[in-house]
Amino acid sequence: MIATDTATEAEAERLLRALLHVDCEPGGRTWNYETCRAIAPLTFEINRIKKEKDAIILAHSYVEPEIIYGVADFRGDSYYLSLKAREARAKVIVFAGVVFMAETAKILSPEATVVVPDRNSGCSLADSLNGDGLRQLKALYPDATVVCYINSTADVKAESDVCVTSGNVYHIVANLPAKRILFVPDRLMGQNLRDELKRRGVQKEIITSDGTCIVHDEFGPADIAEARGRYPGLKVVAHPECTPEVAAAADFVGSTGSMMKFVKTSAAPYYLMLTECGLVGRLQVEAPEKVFIAGCRLCPYMKLNSLEKVRDALIAPRPDQIITLDEGLRLRAARCIDRMFELSPTI
Ligand code: SF4
Repeated sequence: MIATDTATEAEAERLLRALLHVDCEPGGRTWNYETCRAIAPLTFEINRIKKEKDAIILAHSYVEPEIIYGVADFRGDSYYLSLKAREARAKVIVFAGVVFMAETAKILSPEATVVVPDRNSGCSLADSLNGDGLRQLKALYPDATVVCYINSTADVKAESDVCVTSGNVYHIVANLPAKRILFVPDRLMGQNLRDELKRRGVQKEIITSDGTCIVHDEFGPADIAEARGRYPGLKVVAHPECTPEVAAAADFVGSTGSMMKFVKTSAAPYYLMLTECGLVGRLQVEAPEKVFIAGCRLCPYMKLNSLEKVRDALIAPRPDQIITLDEGLRLRAARCIDRMFELSPTI
């Protein structure tokens, strides 16, 4: 079914209402009726095909806003989307994010066909360690409990005792009986974990591998000092994938979901968001009264997603777009994620 002019215009108006306030865009794009009208036939088509195929689209907060507000059924951070993947009864899950997230969806929804718009959407963190590398680390620390951040590959999850997210990492690690923790693959989050547990008076030895997020490890304390000088009353909001120096200088450090909650409930006039720009775009939509000063950065992997690739993956996915996992590995990875759901304070 081709969209009629009336249907396309209604779709363009729907998009405009959602995207009007977004001005944190790669290439300086602005959203107005013309730009929304230009993509409306495509979002209309994707939403139609989605119903025909019994598909859902999960979109991470860092992908382009036209995906998040144009076609996604659920939008959010890794933890929220992993819950939605677990609950999904759809035949097809299109995961607009990066490959490790789609793998997580496949681990939790094995009956569904899980597809990614672009197979090259890796992640500097997840790709820093594979199952072989983790087995070598485990041999060095045989008495350690292995905790993997959700930003890890399926084979790393299969080798780990429990998975964590940026929202539940402190709670879960603090309550594990082991004194020695091998935390992979994020070195900076591991350092922040070490500092936070010390602050809470929890005795743990945290050993880390050497991965970092190429977006969050780029921020420095100088960015914060310079911004505070220009904007009195500024609130600095950072992700725990940032360096410990940045975390120490920020007003709030937390997961993507808790960063959004902090901004929405704070009365401050200005915000410096030390994270991926997609989150700022979401806040411009969902908290349009707040002012965000420049400072966020783009994740090149997340930006490989596009509406055209979402449509193509939905209509006829190529083999490289379909996530497949060895069943034994999937079951071991599922056990590690299920352990997180059992130990998480948010369930
Ligand atoms: S923002 Fe960082 S952690 Fe997230 S996908 Fe990009 S590289 Fe990976």
